[in-house]
Amino acid sequence: MSSMLIYLVFVTALLAGACFYLFFYRSWRRKQHLEQGFPEHWVVVLEAQVPFYRGLTSDLKRQFEQHVQLFLTEKNFYGCDGFEVDERVRLTIAGHACLLILARPYSDYDEIRSILVYPDVYRVQEQVQDGLVVTHSDQVRAGEASSLGQVVLAWSQCEESATRPGSHHNVILHEFAHQLDYLDGTADGAPPLSGEQAEQWQQTMTQAYEQLRQSLSHQSESWLDPYGATEPAEFFAVLTETFFQQPQHLSNAQPAVYEALQKFYRIDPRMFCKYHN
Ligand SMILES: [Zn+2]
Repeated sequence: MSSMLIYLVFVTALLAGACFYLFFYRSWRRKQHLEQGFPEHWVVVLEAQVPFYRGLTSDLKRQFEQHVQLFLTEKNFYGCDGFEVDERVRLTIAGHACLLILARPYSDYDEIRSILVYPDVYRVQEQVQDGLVVTHSDQVRAGEASSLGQVVLAWSQCEESATRPGSHHNVILHEFAHQLDYLDGTADGAPPLSGEQAEQWQQTMTQAYEQLRQSLSHQSESWLDPYGATEPAEFFAVLTETFFQQPQHLSNAQPAVYEALQKFYRIDPRMFCKYHN
């Protein structure tokens, strides 16, 4: 065999390997993982820790379990301040996080790499420089999300979300909603949408956001947790919590907002909210 032929065979093999890795390796790996089946004892944990799970139809349950299985295989969990991340912790977080992508592609979470879990709320001290002005902040946080593929959560707050399904707050849904917001590169309260759906979203959400801010400024009773009025990104995260935790309330109070969220998440949580409220 001439050296030229050996070279061509080598280059072709290299290109084929690169193509496989780029376009097929991830889906091939995922198929391999899913073929291992969903462990029976995980079902017991999900039923106890993820109240939505019990209300899903069998088709949605299968889809949900696949997402949870991939999530646990691909994401790295780290315990902070001596916290031990066990299977119950991982399944609780994965279960609530995967609810958001129940009817959406799992690839929405491709960029999330690690989840840091503190035992309780944690303190963050920051120094921000804007020109010559330096400001210091000292905050107590229940969770946060970063555009670099990291989510931080306080386990005490996650557990409260798991045991109080009808309450308006769910820190896991909140932080993973921020991750969906990051998908188009900006944390602006608008997840990736296009065409008419994007225009409708913009119009509906801007109007609802302004209405919320106005009602709060007049000290009227608010239809949403006031934290949602701090900025559009928080509006989307808080709306997501309410959409899943109190769907009937949101649908009654803001039907157009509910419809926009229903189109984005591609599900109607009123279908499986019988374990709520
Ligand atoms: Zn937030």
